[in-house]
Amino acid sequence: MNKRAFNFNAGPAAIPLEVLERAQAEFVDFQGTGMSIMEMSHRGAVYESVHDEAQKRLLGLLGAPVGYKVLFLTGGASTQFAMLPLNFLTEGKTAGYVRTGSWSDKAIAEARLIGETYIAASSEDDKFMSVPDLHQLQIPENAAYLHVTSNETIEGTQFKEFPDTGSTPLIVDMSSDILSRSLDVNRFDLIYAGAQKNLGPSGVTVVIAREELLQNSPKHIPTVLRYDTHFKNNSLYNTPPAFSIYMVNQVLKWIEEQGGLTGIEALNVKKADLLYQAIDQSSGFFRGCVAESSRSNMNVTFRLSSEDIEKKFIKESEQEGFVGLKGHRSVGGLRASIYNAVPYDTVKALVDFMAEFQRKNG
Ligand code: PMP
Repeated sequence: MNKRAFNFNAGPAAIPLEVLERAQAEFVDFQGTGMSIMEMSHRGAVYESVHDEAQKRLLGLLGAPVGYKVLFLTGGASTQFAMLPLNFLTEGKTAGYVRTGSWSDKAIAEARLIGETYIAASSEDDKFMSVPDLHQLQIPENAAYLHVTSNETIEGTQFKEFPDTGSTPLIVDMSSDILSRSLDVNRFDLIYAGAQKNLGPSGVTVVIAREELLQNSPKHIPTVLRYDTHFKNNSLYNTPPAFSIYMVNQVLKWIEEQGGLTGIEALNVKKADLLYQAIDQSSGFFRGCVAESSRSNMNVTFRLSSEDIEKKFIKESEQEGFVGLKGHRSVGGLRASIYNAVPYDTVKALVDFMAEFQRKNG
């Protein structure tokens, strides 16, 4: 096999090599069935056991107490931006959103198409280069839910703590940091994430929620957009993205082998520390974009002194086998996404490349 790329893509992103190899080994003939997982009925026992196993593993890894359910849906996290208000933002209610940047704004825009919303907190004044303090939130009595984006993939910010919302459901978009650290799931009422960063390939979106939230969707909304449809049918109301779910199950198994969330968190902190230290110790040659206490351990955003030198950095990094270091087109600069599957040695290679680049251009 050719050398693996130093993959810093923001999503779709790196998948552990072990997972790819295991999938390859059983690609053509899944468990002696004479067919691949993509060729069999989603109503058969073989597929269903993969489906159920992935749900159990996910709940197990999160340490979710009894009463939480996993749904496998399609349409990406973006479809959840619409499904959430469709299912919960009923007449007379308002939905609270914490504004932290690009993805939270997309979620808000969808909710506004459906009902009343309010901004519970915002870091706009800081150009979204930090996350707002959520300690003193005032939650109105008629709040349907409070929505938080745990990690802003584009800006590179991450919440380290979550608010206590009392009886108001706390809903969190964890698309870019799910399963990257241990969290107390009890604090959350609904978590959702597109799979293509920390969970596997694109094509499946996971929703992990308290069962009672998933059982009473308003009667007027379309069948396929109702949480209760998918809850009642164990996410088999229509044909699920079987191969993506199979891959998620393999990635979950891999996370278990890394020591679960405690193990993966320790590794993620080590990788992020290495990279942020390289930025901070460059005497201003590299500059982190985000306030220190809000820095993401998943998406590390940084800049150089001019756009020209940033272009040079990207070009030369690509020649050395680095992929995905260009910042999102909406904000520019540089971004290294160091999700669970990015090995420590890959981050080390980047830090070495950065030092060499500085030596030549500093
Ligand atoms: N939320 C966050 C935090 C994201 O990073 C992304 C994708 N980059 C989305 C939502 C949208 O996800 P999808 O492309 O799966 O709709």
